[in-house]
Amino acid sequence: MQRRKFIQNLSLVSAATAVPSILHAETAKKKKNFSIAFISDIHIKKLDTAEAGMAKALQTINRMEKQPDFIINGGDSIMDALAATKEKTQTQWDLFNKIMQAENKLPLKYCLGNHDIWGWQLKEDVKADPLYGKAWWLQQTGYASTYYSFDHRNWHFIVLDSVQENNGGYIALLDNEQFAWLETDLENNKEKFICIISHIPIISFCSAMFAKDMMPNGDWKLSRALLHTDAKKIKDLFKKYPGVKCCLSGHIHLQDEVTYLGISYFCNGAVSGNWWGGPFQDFAPAYALFDFYNDGTVERTMVEY
Ligand SMILES: [Zn+2]
Repeated sequence: MQRRKFIQNLSLVSAATAVPSILHAETAKKKKNFSIAFISDIHIKKLDTAEAGMAKALQTINRMEKQPDFIINGGDSIMDALAATKEKTQTQWDLFNKIMQAENKLPLKYCLGNHDIWGWQLKEDVKADPLYGKAWWLQQTGYASTYYSFDHRNWHFIVLDSVQENNGGYIALLDNEQFAWLETDLENNKEKFICIISHIPIISFCSAMFAKDMMPNGDWKLSRALLHTDAKKIKDLFKKYPGVKCCLSGHIHLQDEVTYLGISYFCNGAVSGNWWGGPFQDFAPAYALFDFYNDGTVERTMVEY
């Protein structure tokens, strides 16, 4: 064997033994399992910009070379049903469904947003209507409950209902029944990696940045409608389940990523940005792509479509 060839072979041997083993260790540690898209706060309404924007967001997701396994709609699909008449609410859902059917071929999971709830702030009394409140959203989605969970590959997804009625307004929290359900669902799935979805953030800094002003004494202005008021209770529950890895939310139209006690909390902006008037504060209209890894880590890419 010529000396040059021997050295080449030698280097190949060392490359085969040393380098790949490190790479192998790396890949064994972390490998992408799948991706999902998280679209939130579409707030669709009869407006050219809104209709084109929702279509474009869905087109960019559906035309990706490597498509996400499914889409999570983080809530506030329509502009508003809280204070809208039945006719106006119907018009908005019809528009939402028309664009969704035309532009999306991927599986879609829904999370309930406050603006998806019909009639809580309507002057006319529609409480007797079978579609009142969250019933309309249940009809729209075909779900039996406003909160539910499902498995995808080696992950368990829990979709919560953040929005509880309070004298026509709402407070961000889980009612007792839902909290008990969450405890049971976590216990039943504690061997899996878990991703939590809530329309309103459980833990977030965005919620504090939403209002431009501080309180007169300099305290932060932090509405009970912008951050889960039961965050401490939920945080204590999550501490018992190391499988809980990430929590995804919308609602604020701002973006942040907060790691707290080993869990990544992502607030994911809004497809509608400033309700279809451009960026909201520092954030352009956007949706999120999430990569889920076999080691339980999750990475987000925001896409300004
Ligand atoms: Zn909202």
